[in-house]
Amino acid sequence: MKSLSAVALLSLSAVVNAHGDHHHRRHNLVARQNSASATRSFTYSGATNPTAIPLPSIVAGAVSRPVVPIASTPAAGAKPTAGFSNAPGVPDLTEFRKNVLANKYPEGDKVPAVNSPEVLQWMEEVQNSGIQIPALETTVEGGSCQANLPLASDASRCWWTCNNCDAKEDVVECNQPNHWGISFDDGPGFYTHELLDYLDQERLKATFFVVGSRVLYLPEVLQAEHIRGHQIAIHSWSHRPLTTLTTEQVIAELGWSKKIIKDTLGITPNQMRPPFGDMDERVRKISLAMGLTPIMWTRSDGLVFNTEDFDVAGGTRTVQQVLTNWQNIIQAAGRLTDNGFLTLQHDLNQQSIDIAAGYIIPDGLARQLTIEPVITCLDMPMANAYIETNDNTTNPPTAKLGIFNKKATSAGVSVTSGTLGSIFVGTALAFASLFAGF
Ligand SMILES: [Zn+2]
Repeated sequence: MKSLSAVALLSLSAVVNAHGDHHHRRHNLVARQNSASATRSFTYSGATNPTAIPLPSIVAGAVSRPVVPIASTPAAGAKPTAGFSNAPGVPDLTEFRKNVLANKYPEGDKVPAVNSPEVLQWMEEVQNSGIQIPALETTVEGGSCQANLPLASDASRCWWTCNNCDAKEDVVECNQPNHWGISFDDGPGFYTHELLDYLDQERLKATFFVVGSRVLYLPEVLQAEHIRGHQIAIHSWSHRPLTTLTTEQVIAELGWSKKIIKDTLGITPNQMRPPFGDMDERVRKISLAMGLTPIMWTRSDGLVFNTEDFDVAGGTRTVQQVLTNWQNIIQAAGRLTDNGFLTLQHDLNQQSIDIAAGYIIPDGLARQLTIEPVITCLDMPMANAYIETNDNTTNPPTAKLGIFNKKATSAGVSVTSGTLGSIFVGTALAFASLFAGF
């Protein structure tokens, strides 16, 4: 690893609110770049890595590298590497593949039906959980704050994105200063294996918040993440803003995600992250009733710890903006004296992976941060990240607690400050078309 000062020229054209035209994503758009077409120099002084993709090549529409199959597929019965001694071996995928072909799972990237025997059973389990699901109305327009103003101003809803509310059950930080709980959302994807190789090279472990229905196509990538010592957690089935869905639909989204991961790994995650951070008291209580602790990302000093890396592939942010976000995050993180931090990053597009492996992680390493999965940044062993292997004496099921967030508050950062990652629609379509014929 070396430190260098990369100077690049960038054109800031057409970045303003460009992701507002997706049909269900209108969160908190921030017009932070008003110069419609200016050319500016950009200096990135963070550490980088000798094999980093040059910044001018990390752009929307970059030529996609060929998708190569993951180097080695775990054998049935394989177990994760160190630190997870009671993990069961991973199942053979023959049965799983048969079930996929027989349409035993809901369709990819669609909200699952709510009348299947599985979902009916999960609804009953939620009902019997002892956790009251508040009868809050669903939000509209993709959970946009602006389109739901009366709800967005109702503090009792504790709507994470619109009320700036961290509930006591929400995990929003790591326990120790200078610890960075690193995570990647929206996979498994076609380039995830490149990130896995880089993490291996640096002997790092991360958390992957996976979209359940993407496991349909890439189960061996999920197995590789797990076997190589990373934490797997849930990010819904179809990546919809969950506050817009009915309670039955949210149960279906989370239940099917739990099931497909269990069928692929032999264990079930007990942590979840709502797509776009879109969670209110109803979605939160459903998650808890299903044994899932919500894991968000840090907000501090008016800054949302969202790198916006996802938006580079769509052209609504540049790599330079993402690295500026990172520099702001790292400065705000440095002012946290009692705790570490959680960020929002993604592993679906090659641009996000190039930024993480080439720039952001090398910089975190150079700053001597402790980079680790969410579960260990909460001072718990990897086993505690799964329902079957969780130690209930030290990590009681989430339903009964409220211990995670030391600083639960409904005050904090400004409502206007969060673009919460952009919508997935365009990529989902590209993704789906790539899979046609599978
Ligand atoms: Zn996501």
